[in-house]
Amino acid sequence: MFINTGAIAAADTEAQLAGVMGHEMSHVILRHGTNQASKARMFEIPAALAGAVIGNGSVLGQLTQLGIGLGLNSVLLSYSRGAESEADALGSHLMSEAGYNPLELAHFFEKLQSGGGSSHMIQFLSDHPNPGNREKAIEEEIQSLPHHEYGFQTGDFQRAKAEVAKLPKTAPPGNVRGGNSTNPAAVRPSQTLQPFQSRSFSISYPSNWQVFSDQNSDSVTIAPREALVQSSNGNTQIGYGIIASYFFPDIKGQSLRQATDDLIHHLSASNTEMQASDNGRSLKVNGNPALITMLSSKSALTGGPETDALLTINRPDGLFYLVFIAPTSEFKESEGVYNDVVQSVRFK
Ligand SMILES: [Zn+2]
Repeated sequence: MFINTGAIAAADTEAQLAGVMGHEMSHVILRHGTNQASKARMFEIPAALAGAVIGNGSVLGQLTQLGIGLGLNSVLLSYSRGAESEADALGSHLMSEAGYNPLELAHFFEKLQSGGGSSHMIQFLSDHPNPGNREKAIEEEIQSLPHHEYGFQTGDFQRAKAEVAKLPKTAPPGNVRGGNSTNPAAVRPSQTLQPFQSRSFSISYPSNWQVFSDQNSDSVTIAPREALVQSSNGNTQIGYGIIASYFFPDIKGQSLRQATDDLIHHLSASNTEMQASDNGRSLKVNGNPALITMLSSKSALTGGPETDALLTINRPDGLFYLVFIAPTSEFKESEGVYNDVVQSVRFK
């Protein structure tokens, strides 16, 4: 287990640091990591995308970080909310045995959620989506634990914080790296569409945009290369483009509305700027009931507002989704093309 200095800086008390360690350690004990790794392989994140980013002169290994804002794909690689609850429950046992108040675990996550953390801690949150009602669930877990006096301290915490405070500052969180001067209007999607075949679906996309995928993948990113933006925390973000993929909700057999809400919940857990701006509009795509939900976020391309249109369709193999990402100032200009792309979706 690695502990980054951001965690030490963000924690108010030793018990909070013990809490996040207990939570993380529980993921290891419960083997959530290997579980996730096999899940990630199942998703087959397009390898071609790595080539594109490397070819662009960017940093290696950012592949899994690509997505909207802090990363749509981090949804794919993050723990499920079920795993989060399990790690909280076991983590609170570990804390209690060590003499720390388990509630401090919940307090620390709440603190991070409300914006009290560095870019590394924001990334941490995106990997650990909020299962909801953390404090209440831990309170209930405490009832089942043997009574303990809490308040243990090694006495070293303040010294560790002082050491961390002396370290040189790292780059500020989440900002677009300077030097990306792409004018969004210059990479606007063309109305001429061309077909793309994935393993389970086909789609038509603007011919002036590029497909980042491989033929065997069910996850595809379509964007102008200029709209792939690397942020200072090393993530590659899409400022203008389309992502088509599948999401596997925690609970099977949900309605389209419920599964979509589940996806949005995952998205907003990994990107605090993102929120749904309407309740969704029903439509049919090639005979399939579909939902379009509008989301708003912060544009990686312009730094201004971003509008994302999320199309969802329940499929036997999961929730199919198509996200169209554009700076809000560009959205009206490209909405027509997006609607054509939506109506081009066919399943095999
Ligand atoms: Zn977690």
